[in-house]
Amino acid sequence: MRAALLVVSACLLFASTASAAPTRAQLEARATELKQQLAGQGYTVTITGPFVVVGDESATKVRSRVNFVDWVVKLIEKDFFDKQPDKLLTIWLFRNITTYKAGAKKFFDEEPTTPYGYYSSEDSALVMNIGPGAGTLSHELVHPYIEANFPDAPSWFNEGLASLYEQPRERDGHMWGTTNWRLPGLTSMIRRKTLPSLKDLLTTSRDGFYEADYDSYAYARFLCQYLQDHGKLREFYKAFVASPDHTGVTALEKILGQSLDEFQPVFNKWALSLRR
Ligand SMILES: [Zn+2]
Repeated sequence: MRAALLVVSACLLFASTASAAPTRAQLEARATELKQQLAGQGYTVTITGPFVVVGDESATKVRSRVNFVDWVVKLIEKDFFDKQPDKLLTIWLFRNITTYKAGAKKFFDEEPTTPYGYYSSEDSALVMNIGPGAGTLSHELVHPYIEANFPDAPSWFNEGLASLYEQPRERDGHMWGTTNWRLPGLTSMIRRKTLPSLKDLLTTSRDGFYEADYDSYAYARFLCQYLQDHGKLREFYKAFVASPDHTGVTALEKILGQSLDEFQPVFNKWALSLRR
């Protein structure tokens, strides 16, 4: 659990810089540059949507990953995001932990603290060990979209929404996050009565979220899942973005029609009823 938590703790978000989404010509120039740089080393380089994708799996496998990226992007854009990421990002897909670590070192001089993958705004890259599956990829794809569309989003929502889609399905044409491995992180806190209040979660600082001594990812994720499961997530997102209160408290209380204090026991009871 702890190791898994580190996966997403490593996700980095930086202040958004104002620039336009990459043009097709810019994407093609970057792809050409990478093809030349990586020639003869077993990589496939391609373009999809606003991204350049580089993979060291077979070309067929890379194509299937690209289809996954397309599917995630189509659904999250439809439900949440008007703007595509406003910088040219490359998605690096490494086939296993060995090539992932070697690639992070070779291309970014990084030694990842997570075995699964990370988003680095600084390097304009999503760097993935795709071997264990695509859940981290769908998580990380949310971050550059939040960065472009809701740069003031607090960490709880940025990570909560990204974590919601770690085990995504399509339901009625929308992205649907299914209950995942993070559930015990939340329910154990409820049972032990160590769960901080929702107000604490929503008003915590960036450092307070990433360095929390409780499972802040699970808490934020399941708050987003509660809203999703009750048909309120998109409505909440719109109200949240429009609200001057960027903790989310005002928007959440408005959408729920009750105070956070009133909602807390409802949320806890719902969480304890979930099964994986
Ligand atoms: Zn993340």
